[in-house]
Amino acid sequence: MAVDSSLSPAVVSTPPNEKFAKALEFIEQMTKNTDSVQARVLGEILSQNAETEYLRRFGLGGATDRDSFKSKIPVVTYEDLQPEIQRIANGDFSPILCAHHISEFLTSSGTSAGERKLMPTIKEEMSRRQSLYNLLNPVMNLYVPGLDKGKGLYFLFVKAESKTPGGLVARPVLTSYYKSDQFKGRPYDPYNVYTSPDEAILCCDSFQSMYTQMLCGLLMREEVLRVGAVFASGLLRAIRFLQLNWRQLVHDISTGSLNPRITDSSIRERMTKILKPDPDLADFLVRECEGENWDSIIPRIWPNTKYLDVIVTGAMAQYIPLLDFYSGGLPQACTMYASSECYFGLNLKPMTKPSEVSYTIMPNMGYFEFIPHDPNNPITLSRDSPPRLVELADLEVGKEYELVVTTYAGLCRYRVGDILRVTGFHNSAPQFKFIRRKNVLLSIDSDKTDESELQKAVENASVLLRQYDTTIVEYTSYADSSSIPGHYVIYWELLIKDSSNPPSDDVLAQCCLVMEEAMNTVYRQCRVADNSVGPLEIRVVKNGTFEELMDYAISRGASINQYKAPRCVTFTPIVELLNARVLSAHFSPTAPQWTPERRV
Ligand code: AMP
Repeated sequence: MAVDSSLSPAVVSTPPNEKFAKALEFIEQMTKNTDSVQARVLGEILSQNAETEYLRRFGLGGATDRDSFKSKIPVVTYEDLQPEIQRIANGDFSPILCAHHISEFLTSSGTSAGERKLMPTIKEEMSRRQSLYNLLNPVMNLYVPGLDKGKGLYFLFVKAESKTPGGLVARPVLTSYYKSDQFKGRPYDPYNVYTSPDEAILCCDSFQSMYTQMLCGLLMREEVLRVGAVFASGLLRAIRFLQLNWRQLVHDISTGSLNPRITDSSIRERMTKILKPDPDLADFLVRECEGENWDSIIPRIWPNTKYLDVIVTGAMAQYIPLLDFYSGGLPQACTMYASSECYFGLNLKPMTKPSEVSYTIMPNMGYFEFIPHDPNNPITLSRDSPPRLVELADLEVGKEYELVVTTYAGLCRYRVGDILRVTGFHNSAPQFKFIRRKNVLLSIDSDKTDESELQKAVENASVLLRQYDTTIVEYTSYADSSSIPGHYVIYWELLIKDSSNPPSDDVLAQCCLVMEEAMNTVYRQCRVADNSVGPLEIRVVKNGTFEELMDYAISRGASINQYKAPRCVTFTPIVELLNARVLSAHFSPTAPQWTPERRV
């Protein structure tokens, strides 16, 4: 078994300060006592919530031990909890899931019936999340010392929020964090100095926010030691933004006057203190940006960058080559693994290359159980006789598991939907490679589209083809991230029965839009508010293409009887085969509808 029991890398250049030493010691304590910490966490959650309607319903009777919990409480999905969540959203403040007052809902990028899932949270969870953030710099300092000598250029954004019928705010977890007093009133910490002013981070207009953050990053370019965003897609969007807007940014820098499109008064006021004419910098930027060559643009503009701080595991792995290109191969550090439901843990070796990243779940963040995951032998979970799942401390290296979490905010045995593989242990805490999120077919940014959503979108679009006596024989899809923003490509093989009246280009473009309208709210928000997903494309392929696809699969060992056309393709030869058969390509003519309000 690969047990890694020390947090010290081969060379430690600077001794961490006392605060850092304490943080590292805390990690050691938690990971050396994984099982007992887990028992304590479960005990705390169950005694806190003993009188909730949910735990009483299953007759827990105030018990706080694992055996009673596991034998009485079912393993659930979001859909199972929907009635309780809806009651809370409607304003029922009795202790339904949690004894503490639900302070707000965190909106997940995972959706249910097209809407973001609503995760109830409580005030104290903010501190728990903060406690995980507090561990990141002490760990990073072991590998990259001196980060207190400069700044971080981080592209951070708030997103739109809404209110539930009962008056609770519903917003993404990071929006909740950036708007909190904890973030806004944070004490000065030399390790956490950002080039972006809070006014820019907190501006909900994504253009103004991005423009100001980029402008400040350019102005302070020599001080920048790390460049980051939450996910790789966000950092690439920032680079694309620079490609499109560098002339105006250069103008602002050379004249010292702020682009009139920035109308947010708090940003304008703040920028009067930051923006001064700097013709030399402006000339430098013109030289770097005006050519076609954007290779290594990040270290060229920010020459002291030591690493990129972005998540490139899971669905984001598709962006590694492009990030390599723009960064000239700078290390890509994936620092933490978290969700709206619960912040799980961190990467104790943040400078390892993306394909080898493992996250260590911190046993104090929640109570974790694991469903063994074997695609060839799926487990059926019965609500009537709750299963005994595997404990955090009992996992086996090399095996895959689905994560189940019990949180202080009242989720009990909740299936997060992530599949993880155990790669080793740090002390007695397992370390995980993130394998994938279940049921996600297509993803470009934070959007996640599953097979049934794609099927519904295709069905809706096919209605437009009826008057042309045309049907969709087969279809598949591809997340095209070769340009930024990436977009969904849907390959259609059509049967046009009346060749004198085929669907026109216009009709096929409308089909693209109808498909986008059918997508979930996160997809449409990415399209409309964030511009992080480009217009959907339909590529019509020659008749017989899907038969060729089948022949190809069979030649590689698939069984004829069991063959089904894949609803999403990623394997390069297959994508190339499809692209070689394209007759015509069509794009959505406009963006779909999206508003922050939830559809009822
Ligand atoms: P959300 O509920 O929108 O906050 O999304 C949380 C989900 O994002 C997790 O359940 C994972 O599927 C994914 N995720 C979060 N952190 C990582 C990571 N470090 N690597 C890969 N996927 C991640």
